[in-house]
Parts: sequence; structure tokens; C-alpha cells
Amino acid sequence: MDRGLKEAQLERSARIFNVQKYNVHDGPGVRTLIFFKGCPLRCKWCSNPEGLRYDHQVMLKRNACINCGACVPVCPKNIHYMDNGEHKVRRDIKCINCKKCEKACLQNAIEIVGEDKKINELVDIVNEDKDFYRMSGGGLTVGGGECTNQAESLISLLESAHIEGVNTAIETCGYTDIEKLKKIREHVDLFLFDIKQMDPVKHKELTGVNNEVILNNLKYLLENGSKVRVRMPILKGVNDSHEEIKAVSDFLEPYRFFKNFDGIDILPYHRYGVGKYDQLDMVYPMEGDFSLSEEDLDNIESWIKEEGINVNLVRH
Ligand code: SF4
Ligand code: SF4
Repeated sequence: MDRGLKEAQLERSARIFNVQKYNVHDGPGVRTLIFFKGCPLRCKWCSNPEGLRYDHQVMLKRNACINCGACVPVCPKNIHYMDNGEHKVRRDIKCINCKKCEKACLQNAIEIVGEDKKINELVDIVNEDKDFYRMSGGGLTVGGGECTNQAESLISLLESAHIEGVNTAIETCGYTDIEKLKKIREHVDLFLFDIKQMDPVKHKELTGVNNEVILNNLKYLLENGSKVRVRMPILKGVNDSHEEIKAVSDFLEPYRFFKNFDGIDILPYHRYGVGKYDQLDMVYPMEGDFSLSEEDLDNIESWIKEEGINVNLVRH
């Protein structure tokens, strides 16, 4: 189908790990959310550990596996093996996504995460729900992982969506090259842009990277007319103090009255992704419960409102 883009762009692939339809949390209206695989950050509370690495990965549901060993001989890379009658997965070998193990397992205990989809195919998926977007003011949101990591594919997808008349949003950690960001922003109607912590040392400790690039990119977008909604994942005892919330409001103060600054979304900590760590042989890095009470959330909302910034609570 000619969508007004060069064939090479439509033939390009994006590596994704999920598509979520009828999403109402990540941008206005009803949206289709496409999750790109791979992320340069390692946030300790990440609820999508299967989106961190760009590689294809084996997810093993241990409670479904009966240790029959049927997946072992079919794997051309010897990734599956038996150890004293227990099925294990070698994590240091690159999976080539042949899916032979998935097919061999009669228990449905294996899922290979990571799918390379042509931009054309993704646009077809997005187009299925055009009526919902029209009725609700919704559209496409690309998240991850970190979608700007696959910048060329991202641009092709966003540009195609625009040609189809579909509104676009991206969720980003903001840790990306400014020149890439300048090209991407031409095709983005709304940035959902994370601020996780203003203190650079604490930011590095929590996410693995410094926040200088992130904050400079955010300033660039705000000062150059891109529509931005800031998102703050908040964990009790980690980044929820009045001082920390005030530091974010102070950073955003110069943009308070900018038409393109759309306010702040609070994303309270949750533990929905914890079970996936075990399926990937990863250890969940946070010990303890960092959930916020209703009172904590009310306080945070009122601190932001006091600074004259529009605030919204998003419960995923
Ligand atoms: S998808 Fe193929 S290479 Fe990857 S683990 Fe399964 S059988 Fe091995
Ligand atoms: S084939 Fe399925 S049930 Fe059998 S060992 Fe492999 S993952 Fe477990």
C-alpha cells in the first residue's frame, strides 16, 4: 500500500515486545500502545524487564514447565539444557528467534520476547482502531523500553501514522542524542517525558545514567514548541519527599505558562512486573514495598498544584 512514504521506510522493521490496544492512560483518548524493545536505562523499579535488552529473550513460566526436556534438542544455539532433571536457560548465548523451543513445548511454558515487525504491518495494526481514535481524540503512543533507541524505525512509524491522519505520542526517558530528538519531534504530537529524579547522583544510582542529557533534552523540547507532559514515577521513601517534588516544580517553573507544557502526570509505584523478572532469570532490584498511600498521593498532588502546575494521577 502506498502511504506516501518511500518503500524503504515502510519495509524498515521495528523490534517490539508488545502491542496494547484500547489504552486510556498514555496520552489523550483511546490509544494503541506499541512497545519498542531495548532501553539505555536500568531503572530499579522497571515493570517491563523484557523491554530492557534489544536481543530476543526466552521467558520461561516456571510453574508451567514440567521439565520434560522437549525444548532442549530443538534449539540450534543450545540455549536450553537440563541440570539434574531441571530445565534451565543459558542467558549468555544470543537467541536467533527461530521459535523452535516455543513450538516444541506442549505446556506453553516458553515465550520468546522480541518481534521484528515491518512499519507497514504496525501501521495496519494502528489503523484497525481509527474509529476509536476519531471518537475519543486518541491515536498511537510508542513506548518501550526506550523508543528513541530505534530512531529511524520510530520516525518511519510516526510519519506513517500522521499520513494516515492518526495522532502520535511517545513515552520517553529522554536519554537520547539531541540531533535524533530534533528529527523525531517533527512527527510527535505529544511527548510523555519522564523526570525520575533531579539530583544527578541519586538519578544515576536509581537508573544507571546521569540526568544531564535528559534535562537538557526536556528544556530543548519545551523551548522549541513541542507539546510535553512530564511524567514522574514516584516511589515512597525514594523520590517522594516535598523537597524532591519541589525540585521538579522549580525546574519546570519557567515553562509554567507555555502553551506547549501540558503539566505533570504522577505515576505511583506498583509491582505488576515483578513476576516477569523470575521468568527472565533476573533479580528484581528493589527490596521492600514502595507503594504510596492515598494520603501520600494527595500531598504530592497538592505540592505540585501549589506551584501552579496542572497535575494528574495515572494508575496503570
Ligand atoms: S527461539 Fe530458537 S534460538 Fe531462541 S531459544 Fe528458542 S530454539 Fe533456541
Ligand atoms: S518443553 Fe516446555 S515443559 Fe518441557 S522442559 Fe521445555 S519449557 Fe519445560
